[in-house]
Amino acid sequence: MHCFRLPAAAPARLRAFWRLGRAGAVLLAGLLPAQARAQAGALAPATGALLLRPAAVFDGQERHVGWAVLVENERIVAVGPAAQVAAPAGARTLELPGLTLLPGLIEGHSHLLLHPYNEAAWNDQVLLESQALRVARATAHAQRTLLAGFTTARDLGTEGAGFADVGLKQAIDQGLIPGPRLLVATRALVATGSYGPKLSVDENVPQGAQEADGVDGIVRAVREQIGKGADVIKVYADYRWGLNGTAQPTFSQEELALIVQTARSAGRGVVAHASTPEGMRRAVLAGVETIEHGDDGTLEVFQLMKKRGVALCPTVTASDATSQYKGWKKGQEPLPPRLQAKHLSMQAALKAGVTLAMGGDVGVFAHGDNAREMELLVQDYGLTPLQVLRQATSGNAQIFHLADRGSIRPGLLADLVAVAGDPTQDVAAVRQVRLVMKGGVLYKQP
Ligand SMILES: [Zn+2]
Repeated sequence: MHCFRLPAAAPARLRAFWRLGRAGAVLLAGLLPAQARAQAGALAPATGALLLRPAAVFDGQERHVGWAVLVENERIVAVGPAAQVAAPAGARTLELPGLTLLPGLIEGHSHLLLHPYNEAAWNDQVLLESQALRVARATAHAQRTLLAGFTTARDLGTEGAGFADVGLKQAIDQGLIPGPRLLVATRALVATGSYGPKLSVDENVPQGAQEADGVDGIVRAVREQIGKGADVIKVYADYRWGLNGTAQPTFSQEELALIVQTARSAGRGVVAHASTPEGMRRAVLAGVETIEHGDDGTLEVFQLMKKRGVALCPTVTASDATSQYKGWKKGQEPLPPRLQAKHLSMQAALKAGVTLAMGGDVGVFAHGDNAREMELLVQDYGLTPLQVLRQATSGNAQIFHLADRGSIRPGLLADLVAVAGDPTQDVAAVRQVRLVMKGGVLYKQP
């Protein structure tokens, strides 16, 4: 621990700051143990041992009836058949009859700083909403995400809100606001001219991501984002800037390779927004870890992804939601062309055996409604509930390099969710959230 005694010779102004700011300084320095900090929205701090006795435990792979889980402080310490999980003296017990205990769910693609496009168009959010308004809204989004059972979220770009996701993550980690653990991308990278908003050609308006081009520009932008706190680098490998608004590749193969190389040398992975086969192909060859959307992906490009170990985060809800915003009446009208293409691409991805991440592009639709992606993958795209449950827990943890969560095993973080019913049989059960624990702290309980 650092010595906090200020030298007697310190200037008076600094001494005054010291007296006023000491508590804040201690918090900022992270010197208080996590359990001693106030956790906003928490029902009880994580102290001592807690035995959870649900009807069943889904451990990230399989559901086990009659299992119990023992948590101590912020970690899971034991899991197995209830008779074999011994609670230490003084442990509290929480009976959870009829509930299935799961690892905290992991959202793979969110934008906490966006709200649904049928509330406000994306252009208007980027150009007309102040950063203060957007951050205030994002704090409510973070709480809804957590209470929906998503204890981790990979947040893929602030869409014009600068580096606000870094502060949002800090506020959650310091216990100031309730929310999921975040992996943040900060501003994301776009090629000059490819993104939006686009207004009059006479005006250079703020963009929804950071423009960067060429060797110097790209290296500098990637390093800047990392320096400001990016956990992951997001690049738009294609966008709707082609003739007649078609999606076309943006960055060259060399530029994408440089982005990956620069990020990787600082220990960061790269994720690529890509919908066109050529944009996807370039991103995969450059070495990105996940492709977001992949709406027009072909069997050939999915086979390349499979070969290179690149996962697809299909965000099926984004296209489902935006089609409905444009007037499509789901269930009453045939699929619009965009969704027909999405179905063909998903069939090709499944045929190629590409690893799927679970992420819906939340923000396009309502935060807290994250489970909609899991439901659509089952109802509209033919996956089994067990497949999507694995994706949303152990699968996403593996793809995002989160070795400390995503399963219920001794030593992992006590990020746990209990839902009514059996979500391995009926995926809609993931909406019946009765308990949410993050790092041993309860945010919701029966
Ligand atoms: Zn997105």
